[in-house]
Amino acid sequence: MGPGPAGYGWARVRPARSGLAGPPLTPSHSRAKKPRRPALKKPSNPSLKDPVGVYCRVRPLGRPDQECCIEVIDETTVQIHPPDGYRIFRNGEYRETQYSFKEVFGTLVAQKKLFDVVAKPLVEDLIRGKNGLLFTYGVTGSGKTHTMTGSPGDGGLLPRCLDMIFNSIGPFQAKRFVFKLDDKNGVDVQCEVDALLERQKRDAMPVPKTPSGKRQIDPEIADMINVQDHCKVEEVDEDNVYSVFVSYIEIYNNYIYDLLEEAPFEPIKPKWNNCNTPLRNGDFIPPQSKILREDQNHNMYVMGCTEVEVKSTEEAFEVFWRGQKKRHIANTQLNRESSRSHSVFIIKLAQAPLDADGDNVLQEKEQIVLSQLSLVDLAGSERTNRTKAEGNRLREAGNINQSLMTLRTCIEVLRENQMYGINKMVPYRDSKLTHLFKNYFDGEGKVRMIVCVNPKAEDYEESLQVMRFAEMTQEVEVTRPVDRPLCGLTPGRRFRNQAFQEELSRKLELRGGPIDGEPEEQSVLETFLQNFPPLPACELLDINDDQTLPKLIEVLEKRHKLRQMLSKEFSKAVLDLKAMLQEFDCSVASKENQIKVTLSDKEKTIVRQKTEIERLEKKIKTLEYKIEILEKTATIYEEDKRNLQQELESKSQKLQRQASDKRRLEARFQGMVAETTMKWERECERRVAAKQLEMQNKLWVKDEKLKQLKAIVTEPKKEKPERPSRERDREKPVQRSVSPSPVPNAPPVRLRHRRSRSAGERWVDHKPPSNLPTETVMQPHVPHAITVAAASEKALAKCDKYMLTHQELASDGEIETKLIKGDVFKTRGGGQAVQFTDIETLKQESPTGRKRRSSPSNPDPPEDAADSEWTDVETRCSVAVEMRAGSALGPGYEHHAKPKRRKP
Ligand code: ADP
Ligand code: MG
Repeated sequence: MGPGPAGYGWARVRPARSGLAGPPLTPSHSRAKKPRRPALKKPSNPSLKDPVGVYCRVRPLGRPDQECCIEVIDETTVQIHPPDGYRIFRNGEYRETQYSFKEVFGTLVAQKKLFDVVAKPLVEDLIRGKNGLLFTYGVTGSGKTHTMTGSPGDGGLLPRCLDMIFNSIGPFQAKRFVFKLDDKNGVDVQCEVDALLERQKRDAMPVPKTPSGKRQIDPEIADMINVQDHCKVEEVDEDNVYSVFVSYIEIYNNYIYDLLEEAPFEPIKPKWNNCNTPLRNGDFIPPQSKILREDQNHNMYVMGCTEVEVKSTEEAFEVFWRGQKKRHIANTQLNRESSRSHSVFIIKLAQAPLDADGDNVLQEKEQIVLSQLSLVDLAGSERTNRTKAEGNRLREAGNINQSLMTLRTCIEVLRENQMYGINKMVPYRDSKLTHLFKNYFDGEGKVRMIVCVNPKAEDYEESLQVMRFAEMTQEVEVTRPVDRPLCGLTPGRRFRNQAFQEELSRKLELRGGPIDGEPEEQSVLETFLQNFPPLPACELLDINDDQTLPKLIEVLEKRHKLRQMLSKEFSKAVLDLKAMLQEFDCSVASKENQIKVTLSDKEKTIVRQKTEIERLEKKIKTLEYKIEILEKTATIYEEDKRNLQQELESKSQKLQRQASDKRRLEARFQGMVAETTMKWERECERRVAAKQLEMQNKLWVKDEKLKQLKAIVTEPKKEKPERPSRERDREKPVQRSVSPSPVPNAPPVRLRHRRSRSAGERWVDHKPPSNLPTETVMQPHVPHAITVAAASEKALAKCDKYMLTHQELASDGEIETKLIKGDVFKTRGGGQAVQFTDIETLKQESPTGRKRRSSPSNPDPPEDAADSEWTDVETRCSVAVEMRAGSALGPGYEHHAKPKRRKP
C-alpha cells in the first residue's frame, strides 16, 4: 500500500494530549491542511519571546535495503508512516502523519549547512554576551553524536562552534589568566603582571599542562577540527578582550560527573576501584559526582567543576577529547552504557573592555560580561525494554529515562503555562538535567533543539514519540536575551593604540635601525671583529728576528687607525643619537602640544556636552514632572468620568422607574375614569328616564284633565256620579294623594262592565323594567296580581284594577316611588280603558329619621299608623278610588291602554 496521493495532502492528526507515552494514534485518513498550531497566549510581560527553535535531521539508512518509514516532504515537513509489519500487526490500519519543524535537514545535508542554520546564530549571540542552549534529541543511533561531535573529516557542531569563536575573537584574546573564573559561577579580572606571575607559576609545575597551541596536535583531533570554514562573527567589539573557558560534564543516573577533573592520586587515602581492591598508581579512579548550585543571578552551575581556559580551537577540542576519552574509559570500567548518559559541553566566554588607552583590560569587575553556550548530547530517548537492560543497568536506565521524562514534563508544563496564562510549577528540580538548564527556560536565552531520527522501520514507534515531543517543544517560548549596555568609553581604542605603537617603532627604525633588533647588532659587531686585524705572534725567540716586531707594529698601527675610526664613528653616532633624541623630544613636545590642544578641545566638548546633558536632564525632569501632573490629572478625570457615569446610570434608572410608575398611574386613572364615566352615564340615563316618566305622567294628568273638561263641556246634561261626602273625605286623609288637584266633575266615561269588587279584585301590576330596586324591606305587594313589564291589553282584559309603579328622583336626592292606580273599564269599541283613581307616593328615609312608610308627604302620621288598615294596599286603593271618585280626585280620569304606543 502506498502513501497518500501526495505528501502534502495527508494530514498530521493531532492526538489529544494525554501524556508523553500515549497510545498510538487512531488511524484516520482525513485530508487536511497544514497542521495548525494553537495560538499562544501573549504573556503579560512585555519582554520579547521566541519559540524554542526545533530542527529535524534525518540520517541516512544504515543499509540501502532497509525499510524506511520517514520521508522529508519539504524544507519544513517530514512525513512518518507505519512500516509494513506494523500495518499487519495493526490489522491493516494505515496512516501517515506529517510534522512541521523550523527546518528539516535530509540525509544529504552537510554538517556545515546544519551549523550555518542552527548553531551560527548561537555563536553570534555568545560573542554578543548572550546565552544559548543547543541540544540533540533522539533515539540511540539516530545521529545525535554525529551531529554534535561529528567524525574525523566531518566535524560536527561542537568543533565548528569552537572554530567560529576563535576565528572571531582570535586577535582580541586576553593573555592567559587575565580573566579568572571563581567557584561561584562568577568571573574576575586581574592586571597583566599578576596574570604573568600566575603563568610562570603554572609553567613551573610539572603536571599537567594544558595543551598549548604550539605543540604538535593529535592527528585524529586535527582531522575532527579541520573544518576549514573560516566562519566568523562580523562586528566583534574590538575594544574588548576575550577569554574562552570550557568545561565538560556527564550526567549519568542523575549524577553529575566532571569529565575534565584531574583526580590526583593519594597514596595515603587509597580509593577503591570497582573490584573492591585498593587503587594503585595508574589505576582507574572512579569519578566523584558533583552538586548543582544557584549563583546570585539565579543561574545554575556545577560546583567545583573544572573550567579550562583555552586559546585556540585545537586546544579547546583537545580538552573536549580528553573528557571524551575519560568518559569512554569510565563507561567501560564501570560497565555503563554510553547511550544512557547526557553529555554537556559548556563554552563560557568572558569579555571586558580595554581601558581608555586601549592598552590594558579595564580593571572593573562590573564591566565583565560572561556568556555561555551549552552543547548537550542527550541520552537516547528510547524506552528501556529496547536495550534489553537488566538489573542495575535497568534501574540506571530508568533514571536516565526519568530525566528525559522530566524534561518532557517541564516542556509540557511550560507550554501549558504560556498557552493558558497559568502559573503551574515547572518541575525542574526533579532531575539534574532540567535543573541545570532551568535558567534557559525561566530566564533568558536562545534555545534550539535538533531532533535526530533514523528513518528505519524498527524505530517507527520511538520516532513517533520523538516527533510528538518536538511538536510540543516548538510551542514553548523563551525570553529573548537583551543586548548588554556599552561600556561608555570611546570606541576604536585598540586600533588607535596599535597605530601609535606601530608609528613609534617605524620612526625608531628610520633613525637608527632597530634598537632591540639583536641579530642586526650582532652582524655589525661581527663585521667589525672580522675586519679587526688579529695580533700576530709576538714572542721573540731569536735575536735576529727582524720580522715579528715590524709586523706587530704594523698591526698595532692598523688597530690604532681602526680605533680612531671607531671612536670617530662613535662620536658621530653619539651626535646623531643626540640629534635624534632632540628631534624625538621636539616631536614628542609637538605631539604633546597637539595632544594638549586636542585635549583642551575635548575638554571643551566635554564641558559643552555636560552642560547639554544637564540641560537635557533638567528638561527630562520638567517633562517627567509634567507627565506626572498629566497622569494625576488623567486619573482625576477618569475618576470624575467614572463618578459621572455612575450618576448618569442611577439617574437613568430613576427616570425609568418614574416612567413606569407614571404609566401604571395613567392606566389606573384611565380605569377609574372609565368606571366613573360609566357609572355617571348609567346614573344620568336613570335620572333622564325618571324625569321622562314624571313628565309623561304630568302630561297624562293634564290630558286627562283636558278630556274631563271636554266631557263636561260637551255632556253637561248627563247624569253626575255620586259625590263622596266631605266627611268621608276628611275621615281618611292619611293616604294623602299628591296627585293634581282634584277635579270635582264626574268621570268622563260611564262605569260600565265594572267587575264586582266582592268577587275579589284582580290587579295588573305594571312594573316597568327601568325601575331600580330600592332594596327596602317594606315593598308594596298586591296579592293575585298579574305583574307586567309593559301595559298589555291581554292582562287588562283579565283584571279590573291597574297599578303602575313609577320611580323618580326627589328633590332631596332620594328615590321616590309612585304607585299610580286606576280602574279598568271595557270601552264601547271592545278595548280596555283605565281610569286613574289614585297616586300613592312611597319614599325612603334614613332609619334614624322617620320610619319609612307610605305617604311620607303626610307630615303628621297618626300614632297607630303601623297597625292601621291603610297598611293594606288593597284597602288603600279602594279607598283612594272612592276618594277620587268623590272629592279628592274629583271625577276619575280614564286612560286608554294602548300597549303598542306607550312605554313608561
Ligand atoms: P547517537 O549518538 O544518536 O546514538 P550516532 O551519532 O552515534 O548516534 O550515530 C550512529 C551511527 O550513524 C554512527 O556511525 C554515525 O556515523 C552514523 N550517522 C549518524 N548520522 C549520520 C549522518 N547524518 N550521516 C552519516 N552517518 C550518520
Ligand atoms: Mg551518541
